[in-house]
Amino acid sequence: MTRLLIVGPPGAGKGTQSARLLETYSIPAIATGDIFRKNIKEETPLGIEVKAIVDAGDYVPDSLTNALVKSRLEEADARDGFLLDGYPRTLEQVSYLDDLLAAMGQSLDAVIQLVADQEEVVARLRKRAIDQGRADDTEEAIRHRQQVYGRETTPLIAVYRDRDLLIEVDGLGDIDDVSSRISEALAARGIVPSAK
Ligand code: ADP
Repeated sequence: MTRLLIVGPPGAGKGTQSARLLETYSIPAIATGDIFRKNIKEETPLGIEVKAIVDAGDYVPDSLTNALVKSRLEEADARDGFLLDGYPRTLEQVSYLDDLLAAMGQSLDAVIQLVADQEEVVARLRKRAIDQGRADDTEEAIRHRQQVYGRETTPLIAVYRDRDLLIEVDGLGDIDDVSSRISEALAARGIVPSAK
């Protein structure tokens, strides 16, 4: 049973590393950004409500995001572990998640922080804009997302560090190297893939 968070600035490679972690640890990866994009694409009521916010690179209101995560964590596949990618992103989301997990008798094992410098991540996002055509990958939206991250999400790092949950991992270099760094850091804390 492994319960993890992965945090880092837009473009740090959270999605890429999450995909690997879910394989290795056999836990569902829950990415709030992916869930929002899926809803936008399918034009669900939630998608219609959040489209302009997400396209502009602003944060969806905590009330909506928290409710979404609650219902997702209550699904059967998340009962025995999960990796949350892109949530929590505000201090209010942190305290909501604390209460939610406490009510479910659960707690986090570790928080993986992917560290990457700004120039590198902006370059990566520009490339992704060409490859994937994400509506929030315009240069202006990218810059805005970095600012919002710095203001709203950076304070979370200190909170999890104080709780001794934070694992800082250098996000630069080969995808495989970054994955190895994460696995080694988790193993050093006794967090290893459970036998299936
Ligand atoms: P990135 O980290 O590259 O910016 P994500 O896919 O994680 O991309 O998120 C895309 C967008 O979805 C965010 O810019 C924001 O609008 C919205 N979003 C995702 N997660 C959250 C969250 N926890 N709280 C508020 N908004 C969120």
